[in-house]
Amino acid sequence: MTSEAPDSAADGSADASATTTFADLGLRGPVLAAIADVGYETPSAIQAATIPPLLAGRDVLGTAQTGTGKTAAFALPILERLDRERGRPQALVLAPTRELALQVCEAFERYAAHSGGVHVLPIYGGQGYGVQLSALRRGVHVVVGTPGRIVDHLGKGTLDLSGLRFLVLDEADEMLSMGFAEDLETILGSTPQDKQVALFSATMPAPIRRLSQTYLRDPEHIAVAGRTQTATNVTQRYLVVSYAQKLDALTRILEVEDAEATIVFTRTKNETEVVAEKLRARGHAAAAINGDIQQVQREKTVKQLRSGDLDVLVATDVAARGLDVDRIGLVVNYDLPIDTESYVHRVGRTGRAGRAGRAISFVTPRERRLLTAIEKATRQPLTPMHLPSVEDVNATRLTRFDDSITEALGRAGEIDQFRDIVAHYVAHHDVPEVDVAAALALAAHGGPLLLDAEAEQVREQFEADRRAATEGRQRGGKAAHGGRDRRLGGAAMTTYRIAVGRRHKVEPRQIMGAIANEGGLGRGDVGAISIHSGFSLVDLPSDLPAGVLRRLGRTRISGQLIDLRPDTGRRAPARGASRGGAPGARKGGQN
Ligand code: AMP
Repeated sequence: MTSEAPDSAADGSADASATTTFADLGLRGPVLAAIADVGYETPSAIQAATIPPLLAGRDVLGTAQTGTGKTAAFALPILERLDRERGRPQALVLAPTRELALQVCEAFERYAAHSGGVHVLPIYGGQGYGVQLSALRRGVHVVVGTPGRIVDHLGKGTLDLSGLRFLVLDEADEMLSMGFAEDLETILGSTPQDKQVALFSATMPAPIRRLSQTYLRDPEHIAVAGRTQTATNVTQRYLVVSYAQKLDALTRILEVEDAEATIVFTRTKNETEVVAEKLRARGHAAAAINGDIQQVQREKTVKQLRSGDLDVLVATDVAARGLDVDRIGLVVNYDLPIDTESYVHRVGRTGRAGRAGRAISFVTPRERRLLTAIEKATRQPLTPMHLPSVEDVNATRLTRFDDSITEALGRAGEIDQFRDIVAHYVAHHDVPEVDVAAALALAAHGGPLLLDAEAEQVREQFEADRRAATEGRQRGGKAAHGGRDRRLGGAAMTTYRIAVGRRHKVEPRQIMGAIANEGGLGRGDVGAISIHSGFSLVDLPSDLPAGVLRRLGRTRISGQLIDLRPDTGRRAPARGASRGGAPGARKGGQN
């Protein structure tokens, strides 16, 4: 039997209340609560098609790509049916790579957040056996692993799969092309006969069909159909970005594309709020709409978008359903949609009323395959684009600035008064008119007009280093600073010592300014500063990357090299300096 995932209305006119919910699919309490936390609004096509048969105990053969939501499609029903009282592994997910295995593990953990005491263990080659063995001894419910290492454990008798109830083969075609065919057969053959099997694959070549014929029992075949097409008056481009680069990419695109109004799509409700907030902080008139927002508020927001009070709307698919605003010249898929129908619907929000529209999709390197699926389903190619450069942004800013001068010059009646004031200033201050014009421009603009390429590079590098350090820490690494730790607003802080103090006549704000500027740090990143006779102590984030620390080490304050290094607290304090001293000796560094 073959079922096709439901096709949502391509023109976006579908009524939101007709949408299938996760509860409609048969999921209950703790799993639903976890989905609500994660912020998914509606099941993706593959989820809607896969979850009911898996809950009913049927085997499933699914054609699905990464990025369609297939992890939740198998993880949610497994969690729903897991018996937490049993200590032996009940579910085994096989994935081609360690990276994917870890991702699946993390997803399981998020979806099990309300299920209490579900243990999920990743098992992959390259990791020591010790950790895996002790976790197995403690008892796990779900094992996610690469086939080779699972077979090793089976051979050693260290993994007991006799109580296995669910087996998932994720990205089966990849596993075969990586040479895991024999391992898969070994695993499939040495697990209980009556287990339920779900096999997912992006393609269905003959070996996969053979595998499924041998090991799956009357499986439900599931294929996500894409039968839709996007309008031809919309140019469609894509930009390959990492998740962490998305916000910067979005702000640059908003500047250079210069659309009247833009709609930005994210995958989750939480993300709409986060992105809208960040855009507002960067000076955009932006607001979020999602399924949690009351209808009255939604209508108000849409009205503002229509009237021009708002320029950017950050939305989820459900919230933007049926949205019809002529001003929308640009659609940005901040996250790619989970199915091609949603893509078509999103892109259909621009190019209304016969106008030309533009759509830009952010694609992370792992999602490239999904891009191909979109192109195939919409029968239109997406053209690659580059991240707008600093020069592109500056060119746009200059043009806009020139235009604003031209426009103001045209306001004959209003400008005369100012002409007299300027003439008066020039006559009394002996300053060339062009300098006065420049000063007025600065006053009107409130700061520099153009981006500084070098400063941007330092900032981006800092953010990239910082992300890498944070990711490293999340994986269990530790900052190798050797200094003393404290916390600032939840962030781990380390005390550093710098070689300038009262003797050099430094003040906290100089230290703050120098460190923030040279290190590319936000002012909020610099914690307490205490000034002593020959040195000062300053609290900085513990995860500062090596590159930033090097740059800071070369920084000068009042002409003196600051020689920043972690404070070990072991030195004899210089005369007159009391480390930490009386309360109040440490001056709060933030402003
Ligand atoms: P996957 O195909 O499982 O790798 O999932 C791709 C991405 O889609 C992940 O970031 C998921 O968190 C997200 N996702 C999965 N299901 C949904 C859903 N129903 N709504 C929104 N996002 C989802």
